[in-house]
Amino acid sequence: MRSVLKVNWDSNLPIYAISQSELQKKGIKCILLDVDGTLVNRKSTNISKDVKNWIIESKKIFSLYLISNNPSKKRISEIAKELNLRYKYNASKPRKKVTLNAIKEVKYEVKDIAIIGDRIFTDIIVGNRCNINTILVKRLNRDGLPIKFNLTLAIEKLISIFIK
Ligand SMILES: [Mg+2]
Repeated sequence: MRSVLKVNWDSNLPIYAISQSELQKKGIKCILLDVDGTLVNRKSTNISKDVKNWIIESKKIFSLYLISNNPSKKRISEIAKELNLRYKYNASKPRKKVTLNAIKEVKYEVKDIAIIGDRIFTDIIVGNRCNINTILVKRLNRDGLPIKFNLTLAIEKLISIFIK
């Protein structure tokens, strides 16, 4: 189990604080982005200015692609439209199929691709199963700020210790 749970970069930062030059240093050219919790709070469609600016700056350097487990095409397509990004909804992470389709579409080598997400058991596991880089970020609240205590992640990390 160890390999699929491995986080290449456990940033402890919200996405908008992830440095683009740091990503470049790691050789990243293409980023698959989780949506709920990573770019927006899962109960909100309001994309904060910080996140929008991060996306605008990142687009100048990287190829970006949204990959969400949310089953609502309406929600994810609206967010994708606002950010002008390609997307997949209902991606069933940690299952590989949809993520592999996105990887095929972007046409980058797996070593040049990273997935950024707020959960180990979906985003990180699917990233490892697809042999791409994995980056964990802090979950966002309704105000677009990182939540102080992420119970889901704490439980996932605790379980990870036992299944290693
Ligand atoms: Mg998420």
